[in-house]
This record gives sequence, C-alpha cells and structure tokens, in this order.
Amino acid sequence: MTATPPDSPRPRWSRRTLAAQAMGRHDAATGAIVPPIHVATTYLRDPDNQYRSGFVYGRPDNATVREAETVLAMLEEADAALLFSSGMAAATSVFMALSPGDHIVAPTVMYWALRKWLTTDAAHWGLEASFVDLSDLDAARAAIRPGKTRLIWAETPSNPLWTISDIAGLAALAHGVGARLAVDSTVATPVFTRPLTLGADIVMHAATKALNGHSDVVAGALATAKKDDFWARVENNRRMLGCILGPFEAYLLMRGLRTLDLRVRAASANALELARRFANHPHVHDVLYPGLESHPGHALAARQMQGGFSHMLSIRVRGGEQAAVAAAAKIELWKRATSLGGVESLIEHRASIEGPGSPCPPDLLRLSAGIEDADDLYADLDGALRAAHG
Ligand code: PLP
Repeated sequence: MTATPPDSPRPRWSRRTLAAQAMGRHDAATGAIVPPIHVATTYLRDPDNQYRSGFVYGRPDNATVREAETVLAMLEEADAALLFSSGMAAATSVFMALSPGDHIVAPTVMYWALRKWLTTDAAHWGLEASFVDLSDLDAARAAIRPGKTRLIWAETPSNPLWTISDIAGLAALAHGVGARLAVDSTVATPVFTRPLTLGADIVMHAATKALNGHSDVVAGALATAKKDDFWARVENNRRMLGCILGPFEAYLLMRGLRTLDLRVRAASANALELARRFANHPHVHDVLYPGLESHPGHALAARQMQGGFSHMLSIRVRGGEQAAVAAAAKIELWKRATSLGGVESLIEHRASIEGPGSPCPPDLLRLSAGIEDADDLYADLDGALRAAHG
C-alpha cells in the first residue's frame, strides 16, 4: 500500500486502516516498514545553492514531524496539520495569529490553563476574551462584538463537566460575523468527531492525551480546513518561536496514532460502563458523562459524536470535597495523577488544580478511563468510595 496523495479527493482506505499503517510509509533506502527518525537540524544545499529536498533547518520543519502531520491531517480530513511542542503551544499559536484589538469568545467551562492564558496573558497581545456558556447558541451570539470578534474558541466535550457545544451552530455563527471557529477536540479525538467536517476552521488537540495515548509525550496539534493567510500566520508563529515538536516525540506520537482507533473505542466503552454503574452508586450523587441520557448535552453529543462519547467522565462524591479527596487517596489501581487519554486510568480531584475562577465543583473527581478491565476499574473505585465513607 502506498500513501494516498494529499490531493486525492477520497482516500481508498478507511482512516483507521491508513493510521494503522502510518499512511503506508516505509524507508525507501532499506525497505524498513517503519521509517527512520530524522534527527538532523540542518540539510545540505544543492551545489547551485537551491534546497530541492524541501528541508532547510530544524526549527521550521522536520521530516518525521511532517510524517506525523500527514497522518493527523488525514484523520481530521484537513487541508494541513502542524505539530507543536505542547497543546498550549498549539493553542496560543492560534491566539497569537490574531491582531491587537481582536476579541475572542471562549467557553466558561474549558481547559483551565488556556482559560488562565486568555484571562491574563492575552492582554499583553492586545487581545480580549469573553467567557460564555457555549453550549447555549443564544449566549454565544450575545457575546459576539460585531467587527471585533475574530475567533470563537470552543472545547467539546469540555473539561471537567464534559459540556457539549454545537460545532455546526457555532461555525455558522462565527462565519456570519467574519470570525473563525477553532475547536479544542482533545477529548473527542478524530475517531468520534471531526470538527472541520462540521464547519470549524481549525481543530486543536493536546496530542499529549489520547492521540499519543501512552502518557510519554507532551505534544500539541492543529489542523486546518484551508491553508489560508491566517494559517500562514499560525505557521509563522511556530517557525519564529521554535515550538515545533521534536522528532523523537513525533515518532512516538505516530506510533500512538497507529492504535488510536482501538484505544479510544476501548477506553470510551469503559467510560460508558463506569458512568452507568456509578450513576447508581450510594456514595455518588452525580455522574457527568455525555453518554448518559441524564447529561444536558446528551442529545447533541449523540448527533455530533459518532461511535462513542469519549474516555472522560466525572463523578460528584457525596460528602463534599473531603470525601472526594479521601476516596482518591484510597484507590489502588487507578493512578492518582493529572492528565488524560492514556491507556492507564487516571483519577484527579480537579478543583485542587484549577484554582480561582474554576467552575469545577469541589466534590468532583475527574476520571480518565483507560483500556484496563472495566470490572477491575469499577471494583477499585467502588472500594475506595466505600473506604472513604467509613
Ligand atoms: N486542552 C485540553 C482539553 C487539555 O486537557 C490540555 C491539557 O491537559 C491542553 C489543552 C493543554 O495541553 P498540553 O498539556 O499538552 O499543553
């Protein structure tokens, strides 16, 4: 199998097949079915002073990074993709591509460090952000400042309440006022949602999470519906700041992408099973998971997410913050750690990390379901909840 040319209108193989084989790439010199990792920081110039290989220097570009970007662009059905040294580097490269005076509409419930950047650092770039409930299209419309709003930033499902926003609705709203829609789709992954096909202009991932999937790489990704002037500014930010992903990390990320489909489907099935079981647990008063009919975003999620509702859920523990922290302290199998999207299940008392301004209730435990046996995961957390309640 050879990789489908980037300008091919319809790939012949499914996205899962193409990802499993990293787009069919191999090493032409040796026939190795895993391409080598390109570590060079500089490239030979041709005798006539040209750079016909297409590579000049390691800060703007790298061949291994490009390979991973091609896989990601295929998964997101994008015109192009760029990989960054972190999710934060990817997201802020989008904000920094705006102009001083521009206004951003962002969700109240979103990844906390990005919200912090928007509330504090963004002002240094002459940017202003308004935070609204983006699951409510009327609230989003009301937050728009005609002539000033240039970007709607959405996250769906969003941390840590797993709020669902209507990507197609927000895209129509943004485009109606000459703005762009960017979607942090870290939790949904391209397996369950492809925001660009729903009208978004840019999709962002903390590739640190499910895209890599093994808790051993910090990485960020952007993919665009079209390589326009705005995308050129984003690319220029990466080139000038040098926040490109390293080649070893790009290799590991590509290895993770080969099993993305299997991993996130297995983890999402575990999350659904856990959500259903904890919904009836005596020490849990609420389960937040878009796969449950009780979740306010369920109907929209069922339309917008295809094949699963993600690996992320939260439980609210009876007895408040103290009981939640005590339960997390009693677990044996789950790992008590921040982050998400790895093959191992993680549990976190989220309010402890989010700080002031967070909409996270103090009794909430955030759960990132991994691919372990669902019965084991349930038994461990059930035991911890019971032990915490004496
Ligand atoms: N977006 C979401 C939804 C996240 O969960 C995270 C990290 O937890 C980020 C962005 C930032 O990614 P990174 O930690 O790779 O900078």
